[in-house]
Amino acid sequence: MSVLPEVLAANETYAAGFGDLGSLALPPARHFAILTCMDARLDPAKYAGLSEGDAHVIRNAGGRASDDAIRSLVISYKLLGTAEFFVVHHTECGMEFFTDDVMRGLLASSLETAALGEDGFHDVGTGPGSTEGAYVDWLTIADADQAVVDDVTRIRNHPLVPAGIPVYGYVYDVKSGRLVEVEAATSIGAAQ
Ligand SMILES: [Zn+2]
Repeated sequence: MSVLPEVLAANETYAAGFGDLGSLALPPARHFAILTCMDARLDPAKYAGLSEGDAHVIRNAGGRASDDAIRSLVISYKLLGTAEFFVVHHTECGMEFFTDDVMRGLLASSLETAALGEDGFHDVGTGPGSTEGAYVDWLTIADADQAVVDDVTRIRNHPLVPAGIPVYGYVYDVKSGRLVEVEAATSIGAAQ
């Protein structure tokens, strides 16, 4: 039971109503970028009021300022003119539910989906797994607000990010849909 036919049918409907969106310019019209988590409950277009062509949205597990996220942010401002960055993590992030050691152990055990119980993830698959997980920094989160502070700090201090770009730090509340500012992060991320 693949989701493929549903996705292709939805795309047919979308393309049929595409209208003049084909004439959008490449650079984001509203000149900003959002780095956020891939969590399925978050829809940046809705929580931040975006339409096609408005902004860059960079997503990964946790919305972390990984080397690859920074690669995208640098391209975003340097080539496509964005001038403000948002880091938006969220409550109940899955990245809070495991550590590097746990993930490495799960992957070493099997490559099947683990089960999440009261005491965290445990492996229910049949091996073999792989020890390659030991070479990945999974960028897990121990404290939600602190992770926003850490990521805003990394972006602010990155040698390829200009001092004039403000970096705002927020936590999206999955229970209310509200963006809650992490004031310490936004303070660190202020344009200089
Ligand atoms: Zn998340």
